[in-house]
Amino acid sequence: MSKEQDTEGGKRPHDTELYVDVPRTCLPIVYHPIYNITFMGIEKLHPFDAGKWGKVVHFLKEEQFVSDDNMVPALEASEEDLQVAHTKSYLSRLKWSVIVAGITEIPPLMFLPNCLVQRRVLRPLRTQTGGTIMAGKLAIERGWAINIGGGFHHCSGDKGGGFCAYADITLAIKFLFDRVEGVSTATIIDLDAHQGNGHERDFLGDRRVFIMDVYNRHIYPGDGQAKRAIRRKVELDWGTEDAEYLQKVELHTEGALNEMRPDIVVYNAGTDVLDGDPLGGLAISPQGIIARDEIVFRAARRRGIPILMVTSGGYQKKTARIIADSILNLHRQGLIAPEPLEGEVSSPQPIGGQSSVSVSSVRTSV
Ligand SMILES: [Zn+2]
Repeated sequence: MSKEQDTEGGKRPHDTELYVDVPRTCLPIVYHPIYNITFMGIEKLHPFDAGKWGKVVHFLKEEQFVSDDNMVPALEASEEDLQVAHTKSYLSRLKWSVIVAGITEIPPLMFLPNCLVQRRVLRPLRTQTGGTIMAGKLAIERGWAINIGGGFHHCSGDKGGGFCAYADITLAIKFLFDRVEGVSTATIIDLDAHQGNGHERDFLGDRRVFIMDVYNRHIYPGDGQAKRAIRRKVELDWGTEDAEYLQKVELHTEGALNEMRPDIVVYNAGTDVLDGDPLGGLAISPQGIIARDEIVFRAARRRGIPILMVTSGGYQKKTARIIADSILNLHRQGLIAPEPLEGEVSSPQPIGGQSSVSVSSVRTSV
């Protein structure tokens, strides 16, 4: 599986801790308590519930789906790891607190020494980024993986914004392309309420990466240049509700995966589509979000395509409960099993290969 011995002219990938072997006793669910940003209340100045990741895990523990022993602890992405997608000049700019204040939209950060900003804000984000990269490898091995954090889809290799300081989706895909034999194509299904202009800028013109993006057309970032990278673009209007939304998600997810069968699906499962979200501007119910996640997992799993989910945006206090409920529903539906489904191969299949997931229990719609 490893390409580290590759001598066919390609540059040998650097040594990384993020591709360590994970025991089979662990679920492919990646998390670390460091994800949660707490810093003298400053995090409360952002509309983001900066503790949502810990709350998701708390609810999953309450339902006895996960424990500290059966989750994969995320590791912080190193400078060398980050350079797989980021320019050195971008990473050096993060050494200026004022730059980080702009990217994270927490203005008071500009007055703090950068060592504090690094430790209390960027380190959590680097750990979530490491988590997404780790989950990419796990998804290939197990058929699915979930990073409880990550999904910083506004950040590209040389520019951050919209709370996103590291391009974790780009990084996870580049790591897979560089290091895992048989992974040379990816489909990003971005269902956060905002356009995912970060990964779109990174993969503009790269035919290996198929991007489907469903977002509110009227809100941030409205990045026209990045939109050129989207192969399936679904622009929604203010207040879009469940019926229309789910119909479009199902139609285009099926269509995207029929159009190109990728070696991995990266699912950016932002929950800021939730009704009442002050930034997303859509009107999707909690049940709608749960049904949406089920549609995407079902489409990937039915085809035997590994799927990596990241949780991305979602700014309300009740968001964590909905994410946890959705993960529990995926489990109940048999879409995320502790071990690969019977007959499922855990290594990548050739493009166009037969689905190896049993379809007998698969519903065709939700
Ligand atoms: Zn968003």
